[in-house]
Amino acid sequence: CRLDACDLNSVIKNALCLLTTELSKRKIILTTDLELIPKVCADPWGIEQVVLNLVMNALQAIGSQGEIRIIVRRQPEGVRLEVQDSGPGIPDEVRSRIFDPFFTTKPFGEGTGLGLSICAGIVNENGGNIDIVKSDSRGTTFVVILPCKESVD
Ligand code: ADP
Ligand code: MG
Repeated sequence: CRLDACDLNSVIKNALCLLTTELSKRKIILTTDLELIPKVCADPWGIEQVVLNLVMNALQAIGSQGEIRIIVRRQPEGVRLEVQDSGPGIPDEVRSRIFDPFFTTKPFGEGTGLGLSICAGIVNENGGNIDIVKSDSRGTTFVVILPCKESVD
């Protein structure tokens, strides 16, 4: 692994700290379920951008009230991060385009459409993978898989 090891759980806690004010403005129940995991092989700054983008998208999807769950698990191929929200889901016709640069469904001035394409760039650069695993009228779940430092070294 050519990068410094990244402690994903601390990165998540940091990112959530930055969102404290935003979270306190609404009726959002945010829960974290962070398993003890090995360090991941990724640039911590980049991974913080990924977490922030996913959580901000979840907040925007939810609106004034709802739930966000952040789950971290050890997996054979690395570490798995899930960001689940109770928002309205992503329509089928939109789903294939959400990782495209400048694709947004948000009103002009509210979204650049760059968030997910930047996330995908960062995750792929670090040898990981990002995808939606579930999206329906009860919510959306994004999953990020990142290789562990010990499995790469
Ligand atoms: P932006 O947030 O600026 O619109 P993104 O690249 O972050 O750009 O997201 C692209 C589009 O994907 C959003 O406009 C939205 O339609 C959809 N999207 C992303 N995350 C979610 C989510 N959690 N729930 C519903 N739709 C989402
Ligand atoms: Mg976004």
